[in-house]
Amino acid sequence: MLEETIQRTKAYYCLECGICTGSCPVSRYHPDFSPRLMVERALLRPDGPSLDDREVWSCLTCGTCSARCPSLVDYNEFTRATRVAARAEGTAGIDTHAGTMIAFMELQTNAAGERDLSWIAADVRTSRKGKVLFFTGCLPYFGVVFRDYGVDTVGMANSTIRLMNAAGVRPVVSCGERCCGHDPYWTGDARTMKTLARRNLEMIKESGAQKVVFACPECYVMFKLVYPKYFGVLGFDVAHVTEFLAPRVAAGKLRFAEREGVVTYHDPCRLGRYAGVYDEPRELLAAVPGLELVEMPRARAEALCCGSSAWVSCTRVNKQIQLERLAEAADTGASTLVTGCPKCNIHLACAAKDGDLEKKIEIKFVTDVMAEALGS
Ligand code: SF4
Ligand code: SF4
Repeated sequence: MLEETIQRTKAYYCLECGICTGSCPVSRYHPDFSPRLMVERALLRPDGPSLDDREVWSCLTCGTCSARCPSLVDYNEFTRATRVAARAEGTAGIDTHAGTMIAFMELQTNAAGERDLSWIAADVRTSRKGKVLFFTGCLPYFGVVFRDYGVDTVGMANSTIRLMNAAGVRPVVSCGERCCGHDPYWTGDARTMKTLARRNLEMIKESGAQKVVFACPECYVMFKLVYPKYFGVLGFDVAHVTEFLAPRVAAGKLRFAEREGVVTYHDPCRLGRYAGVYDEPRELLAAVPGLELVEMPRARAEALCCGSSAWVSCTRVNKQIQLERLAEAADTGASTLVTGCPKCNIHLACAAKDGDLEKKIEIKFVTDVMAEALGS
């Protein structure tokens, strides 16, 4: 298995230059973590690395190292494949929230049962069938868990629909939806991901949708990059909500009222480095009169990760990365850090609460900012 992973991820071409380790946010705070050494160890022991090694679970799969590697080693896929092998050996290392977040995703593989849609706000309009579907992902469920952190993911889903309505679209929201499988996939459980994906693809086919819109970049990249690898051409278009809205805003279909303030934008790893969506969130923020967008030193492809991924680990190292990002945002002079990902919002808001930074910088999801500025 490992030999095949080494070939597929181009690990054989590693120059041992160490650019990956030098770029890695985890290595900065965790001296024992080195992507270069992980690759080297695998090359020296192609029969299998030390899979009981906890280091494989420390990677954020943020893609910074892969983006900078001169040999184009796909370290994200290297990590994922190593986790598949580690799982097979019974060494899965999922630590956060006592494993309940991942367990809740696994529970959704059940064919029976429908999602409760009572979270949909009374003022937004949705459909049962139609050309555009809004894939809500786990937002309605995260709301229950993270309300105490001041993160309203149900509100994020509703503000997304509100903006789609303002653009003249009444999206399908389906009770047959399941988790996209991102977190099981990145923790080495492709089987759960495939079961969830099949149910989602059947649901979308039945809805008649030709375009699927996502608020969560993780759901988005699963449909854009991962599902096609397993299921071929999907037969419908996909778009992050910022991609869906930006051309409609440019065409004058949505108008925003004046909102004074200075904001900075955090590029999520999945939306940025994975999917290459950098301009559209910024175009939306620029469309609000009076709102000033200032950039952090590390933006776009250079953006620092929010410090957590797939509910794998939440250690001192993760928190230090998050506090570093919050400090970078606050240093711009912005009063609000706008995220393009609900999960980045959760992780950064949690760190802000722990670090007593809530008064220094507010963290908001992009559709919340935009919906608040809608035409009032
Ligand atoms: S950046 Fe690429 S070539 Fe350099 S050590 Fe890391 S994996 Fe090897
Ligand atoms: S993907 Fe990110 S966290 Fe993982 S080794 Fe590369 S730079 Fe470090």
